This record gives sequence, C-alpha cells and structure tokens, in this order.
Amino acid sequence: MIQGNRRLAEQPVPLIDPTRCDGCGLCVRVCPTGALAVKDGKAIVATPEACNYTGLCEAICPTRAIRRPFEIVVLDEKTTKVE
Ligand code: SF4
Repeated sequence: MIQGNRRLAEQPVPLIDPTRCDGCGLCVRVCPTGALAVKDGKAIVATPEACNYTGLCEAICPTRAIRRPFEIVVLDEKTTKVE
C-alpha cells in the first residue's frame, strides 16, 4: 500500500512506495521542514502538516520510491473567462 493517499484531497503529501524504499534516509536529510522520517527501515511522512511540497525528496530518491501527486483541475469556460 502506498502511504499518503488519504491526505491528497485535504493537504497533499508525498506518496511513498514501501516496495521500492530501501530506507536509505536521503529524503529525510534533504527535507527542509522535517516532514519525513525512517521507521522500521522505510520512509514515512511523519509530520504531514510540515510538508511544503518542495520536491527535494522526490528528486533525491535513488529508487524513485517517493513522489508528489498533483491533482489536475479542469475549469470550464465560465470559470476561466477574463473580462
Ligand atoms: S530516499 Fe527513497 S529509498 Fe531512501 S528512504 Fe527516502 S523514499 Fe526510501
């Protein structure tokens, strides 16, 4: 199970695939807000409210275990019309 999905609608946090994570801790070291931790040999989002979505974790992960989901919102013509 990929951790983090349930928070996507409220506050997005990185998703971590534990089958790919080897617990190296690089993401924890680069996170500027201390949102991540390694527990039982796997990365977790320990402090979700601290995450500011910098993407450094995603960029540094050697196994591509952590990634940031983005929600695409399609606005209709009325909503996007500029007068
Ligand atoms: S950098 Fe990737 S492999 Fe290393 S602990 Fe973080 S999520 Fe796991």
